[in-house]
Amino acid sequence: MTPANAVLPVRADDPEAVRLAGVSFGYGSVPVVRDVSLAVPAGQLLTLLGPSGCGKTTLLKLLGGYLTPTTGRVELRGRDMTRLPPEKRNAGMMFQNYALFPHLTARQNVAFGLEVRRIPRADRARRVDDMLGRVGLSPAERDRKPAALSGGQQQRVALARALVIEPHVLLLDEPLANLDRHLRDQLRTELRSLQRQTGVTTVMVTHDQEEALSVSDLVGVVAAGRVLQVGPPAEVYARPRTPFVARFLGAANLFDGKAVGHPAAVVMVRPEHCRIGPEAGGCHWVWPGRVADVTFLGAELLAEVVCDNALSFRVRTRPGEPLERGQQVKVGVPEDGVWVIPEADQDSAPCIVHIREPRIGGVCTPEGL
Ligand code: ADP
Ligand code: MG
Repeated sequence: MTPANAVLPVRADDPEAVRLAGVSFGYGSVPVVRDVSLAVPAGQLLTLLGPSGCGKTTLLKLLGGYLTPTTGRVELRGRDMTRLPPEKRNAGMMFQNYALFPHLTARQNVAFGLEVRRIPRADRARRVDDMLGRVGLSPAERDRKPAALSGGQQQRVALARALVIEPHVLLLDEPLANLDRHLRDQLRTELRSLQRQTGVTTVMVTHDQEEALSVSDLVGVVAAGRVLQVGPPAEVYARPRTPFVARFLGAANLFDGKAVGHPAAVVMVRPEHCRIGPEAGGCHWVWPGRVADVTFLGAELLAEVVCDNALSFRVRTRPGEPLERGQQVKVGVPEDGVWVIPEADQDSAPCIVHIREPRIGGVCTPEGL
């Protein structure tokens, strides 16, 4: 028997643990997942990030075998699983509402999947306790039923239940959404560390961009059933391929622009790349303007500046010199603070043009600047 701490050892011959190829799905005639292709290397954590109703849960259910695609292929560890039911996929699924059995204790909830797999009783007890210990549930809490556990404790039980079967892939549907802010931040860190320790390939879904950026090896941005872009968090944040991706990952100043060879371009400047006040002097572009609004956020200020050329910028800056509404200032943008997005938002097709040159000097002129 494999010990419980050897969940999914990453194998060299297993480079892609999860693969979707041209997967589509609809409830009746309504398309919900549209031609999704993606791959997750073994041991990595992919987060699918998108607004409510965009098809995230449906995508996870297609991976777990709770739904079957209309077209396309689902592979886990290189094996075609498209038509196999959940129990033949060895995927651990944690549902959005945890879906714990209310009449069973934490231990019994976690043991359930092992009973179904006919793991001998003694082994079962050891694995259940080992896993509940790893997710941080105290011995006293393990004999309680879900109603006598807090949201955070129920979340831990649900996670232990998904992991105890030593799944090839862990599927997490908004695992932190029902928790208050402080607990969410704590469990987010714990979840990531447990995922790293076990090495289990994980697909998580969330609508929270901060969560997606902070825990993932890869982020995939989903809109209206399509995966618009997949990549490491820092790359997707800095080099979004569509305005939707740019906006969904954080605040972005977006302007219509022109790029040589790509007439319809959108120019993005993240608020933290804008400078304000004396510092703006050293920037490539500098425009005079007036502060329309200031928000104090503790470690930083968020200012809205309307420039004399009618462009409006959101600027993140350290609280230092006083900044007040109505104040005349200069906004500066350094040459490398600009990213050119080649296409306007398209609902029907993912963006296919790559701009490899992120700087606009000589290549692109934001219109009206
Ligand atoms: P998300 O998890 O991103 O919020 P879902 O995958 O749950 O989105 O749902 C995607 C779309 O499919 C939504 O428009 C939702 O209303 C619809 N949908 C979800 N489940 C069903 C169902 N069982 N029958 C019909 N439509 C559904
Ligand atoms: Mg959902």
